[in-house]
Amino acid sequence: MNPNPPDTIVTRFAPSPTGFLHIGGARTAMFNWLFARHHGGKALLRIEDTDKARSTQEAIDAIIEGLDWLGLDWDDNPVFQSEQAERHVEVANQLLASGNAYKCFATPEELEEMRAQQRAEKKPMRYDGRWRDRDPSEAPDGASYAIRLKTEQGGKVTISDAVQGDVSVQNSEIDDFILLRSDGTPTYMLAVVVDDHDMGVTHLIRGDDHLNNAFRQLALIRAMGWAEPIYAHIPLIHGNDGAKLSKRHGALGVEAYRDMGILSDAMFNYLLRLGWGHGDDEIISRKQAVEWFDIDGVGKSPSRFDQKKLQNLNGQYIREAEDTDLVALTKPWIEASLSIELTEEKLDLLSQAMPVLKSRAKNLIELADGSLFLFKNRPLGLDERAASLLDDDARQLLTSIHAALIDLEDWTLEATEESIKAIAEAAELGLGKLAQPMRAALTGSTSSPGIFDVLVLLGKQESLDRLADQIE
Ligand code: GLU
Repeated sequence: MNPNPPDTIVTRFAPSPTGFLHIGGARTAMFNWLFARHHGGKALLRIEDTDKARSTQEAIDAIIEGLDWLGLDWDDNPVFQSEQAERHVEVANQLLASGNAYKCFATPEELEEMRAQQRAEKKPMRYDGRWRDRDPSEAPDGASYAIRLKTEQGGKVTISDAVQGDVSVQNSEIDDFILLRSDGTPTYMLAVVVDDHDMGVTHLIRGDDHLNNAFRQLALIRAMGWAEPIYAHIPLIHGNDGAKLSKRHGALGVEAYRDMGILSDAMFNYLLRLGWGHGDDEIISRKQAVEWFDIDGVGKSPSRFDQKKLQNLNGQYIREAEDTDLVALTKPWIEASLSIELTEEKLDLLSQAMPVLKSRAKNLIELADGSLFLFKNRPLGLDERAASLLDDDARQLLTSIHAALIDLEDWTLEATEESIKAIAEAAELGLGKLAQPMRAALTGSTSSPGIFDVLVLLGKQESLDRLADQIE
């Protein structure tokens, strides 16, 4: 029995745990979650692990972790499809008893022959209903059989899909498909329909690669006399060249994006906008998403996944993020890359630096990398470009700079800037000519925050020492 009153919206995300949670799946999960949250309904999770050969615990863990990282929570414990097998068998037998299904004794060889002939005649390959009207007593004693659904023969069936509109298929295209295999195991088609019914699912939001399945599933639902769900088949995500999304386009698991330093909020926002829109709004918080999300905002054409846009959006989220959050998020990256532990004092320094660091980073790795100069031990190793910058002329300049800065009492942005500018003017050089060797000496690289920010963050003594290291 349907455990929910008909006015409660229930959605489900039903991944097959044969790999990680890829971005298409993550977006489907989000749309189901948002739709349920928007309408005050329930969002459920079902792990479709009936294909035992391809389902792994590792994949289940990766999917659950990925969903968790995206901030999606579910209203009940996950349902494991493989655990419902008995119930699937029960429904198949019920259909058999009501005359909506029948036993098919065709042997594998026989079916292969049938298909070969259809292939030769260039006809669509479909079960031809050879046992539909035959009496089981005609089968040899003890022969094994599959149970097939007795589908409608004439006319057509129409699904009013909430995204695709009315989509029709001739009933003749839907053959009497198998519910229970001859080894007694339920098919995927049967399992999905039974589980959706038993979980009280009212809205099926999923990729449009499942639209074809919907017609078969609907036939089964009608044979059982169950309430029909509302279907919403969302267009798939394509690569930025318009081709079907593949690894080459960045079709990775969401955890790969986490490991690339993408913020969960940015990923959420990016995936949300892939196929759903709210006017011209680009930056949309979770709260707004719950408030605004509905199926009518889902577009009919495939969206394009663009890594660059994701990185840019992530950069915007980093700039808007709280410094304390960014400190906590970058800490492990910094510690791993320098093999150090950040003391309270160093974490304070990182917090102070965060406003200038975060304006330059598109992801947490860039953010962490940009901060490393703060924590390196003297004498600094220089990268190749920094090293090649420090020729004799440059060292000469550093000597004058060191001499001027040593007398500076007020170690502020303004005072250091004034002092360096005076040297530049006296030497008739542009500020950049001084800033580049300073940057090399102070950070060991040729890119860093503004040079005066660097001086102030490092403090007077450390700055002078780093300059001196390159002069001597
Ligand atoms: N388990 C299917 C998949 O991962 C989804 C089935 C469905 O949503 O009906 O593609």
